[in-house]
Order: sequence, then structure tokens, then C-alpha cells
Amino acid sequence: MQARVALVTGGTGGIGTAIVKKLADMGHKVATNYRNEEKAKAWQDRMKADGYDVTLVKGDVTSPADAAAMVHEIEQKLGPVDILVNNAGITRDGTFHRMKPEQWTEVINTNLNSVFNVTRPVIEGMRDRKWGRIIQISSINGLKGQYGQANYAAAKAGMHGFTISLARESAKLGITVNTISPGYIATDMVMAVPEDVRAKIVADIPTGRLGTPEEIAYGVGFLAAEEAGWITGSNLDINGGHHMGW
Ligand code: NDP
Repeated sequence: MQARVALVTGGTGGIGTAIVKKLADMGHKVATNYRNEEKAKAWQDRMKADGYDVTLVKGDVTSPADAAAMVHEIEQKLGPVDILVNNAGITRDGTFHRMKPEQWTEVINTNLNSVFNVTRPVIEGMRDRKWGRIIQISSINGLKGQYGQANYAAAKAGMHGFTISLARESAKLGITVNTISPGYIATDMVMAVPEDVRAKIVADIPTGRLGTPEEIAYGVGFLAAEEAGWITGSNLDINGGHHMGW
């Protein structure tokens, strides 16, 4: 297997950490972004203690200038980015009739516009080198919708349109573009949901439990593999059977 450079946005979060570890375990050099110096340093120390040497670059994915600078810094330090995982995301839930413009804009900027911001500076190099893996971490709720998440579901559904369009543009150039749609994963994002609401969600999942970050990371490893070169424009559901079919 060829060692490559991977950028995972939001790699310090619950799912991101597992993705970073998975790609590093596959032998890749992995980088991620951070916004808060202190938080990032503590995360890096925990990763070091677990045996992972991850390159951290400062940057907010909602800013095109930050995203371009982040990619430039990683390329200077590690080499060209061959694997990009667009994972950074937030929720700002609320029923639509009460939703404030900031709730809409923050979620669209962080979850969808970020995908443009970070993919744009890496795509040229991937096209030149005729190899690339671009993976969006979307959500089950971008497929089926969710009460109180018109903003989040719109952003996550937008990732699918992006994926299938860029997949068409990139298919002859050795670049695959895919989406993973996780179901409910036991990270801070989901543990922040009130317990009674969470219990109802779990009762609705055929496997009877929340997913783990490692189960999403496994899907990323699969799509990032050399052997996955004919998988493009796909959506991989990893949701314990919570949403099946189309
Ligand atoms: P976390 O909240 O644990 O992690 C989110 C990460 O994104 C953090 O590292 C955070 O950095 C980063 N981030 C957020 N905003 C920005 C920004 N503007 N610029 C740079 N980085 C940013 O979330 P999860 O790990 O649970 O989620 C990861 C992805 O998976 C998200 O896209 C989420 O929507 C998706 N997902 C999660 C599910 C779940 O059940 N948890 C289910 C389905 C999809 P910082 O520490 O600076 O805030």
C-alpha cells in the first residue's frame, strides 16, 4: 500500500478522531485543522499518548482563505493531499418557524460551504497527479429529514449533490468522490440530545444501539483504499439499519 497524505477536517472531534486513527493505521500521514490552540494541544497530547503523530494546522473551514492556507501549510509540511475527508460539522437545531437566520447560515457555512472551501484547493493537484479520494461525512438526516433540523438536513443533502457532480467531473482522472451517511453515533453531538429523546431514537434503530465513531472510520478506510477506485458517486449508509432503501 502506498503511504499518502490525508486531510481530515474536524479531526479533533468524536468521529474525526476515529477517522484520523484509521487513516494513520493504514500507513498514511494525517493532518487536521483546529480553531482553539489549547483544546488542540490537549488533543494532540492524547493522540501522542496513543502513538499517533498528527499534523495540526490552524483554520476555520467556513473561511475560503483559511482553508486555502491550511492546505498550503499541510502540503509544505507533508506533501500533496491525496485523501480529503470533509468531516467538520455542527448542529444548530430548532423548528423552522422559529429558526433564526444565524442558525441557518452557520450550519450551511460549516457543513456545506466548507466542502467547497476545502475541496477547491486540493482538487487541482489531485487532477494533475491523477489520483484522489474525496469523502464527505453527511448524515442519515440529509436523506430522510429530521424534525428541528431543516438547516442541517439541507446542508447534508447538499453534500450528496456535490458528491455526484464532482464524481462525474473527476471520474476519468482517478479521483473518486463519495459520501458516508452516518446514523446516530455516540459522540458529544448526540449525547447532548436529551436522554428521553435519545432513548426514542435508539428504540427506532433495528440494531438497538447507537453506532461508534470507529464504525464510521471503517467506512472511510474502505472508500480511501487503493482497491476502491471503481467506487465513485456513491453514498455509504452506516446507520444500524435506521434508514434503509432510497
Ligand atoms: P464533533 O462535534 O465531535 O466534532 C466536530 C468537529 O468539527 C470538531 O473537531 C470541530 O472543531 C470541527 N469544526 C466545527 N466547526 C468548524 C469550523 N468552522 N472550522 C473548523 N472545524 C470545525 O462532531 P462529530 O464527530 O459527532 O461529527 C462529525 C461529523 O459527522 C459532522 O459533520 C456531523 O454532522 C456528522 N455526523 C455526526 C453524527 C453523530 O451522530 N455524531 C451523525 C451523522 C453525521 P472545534 O473543536 O474547533 O469545534
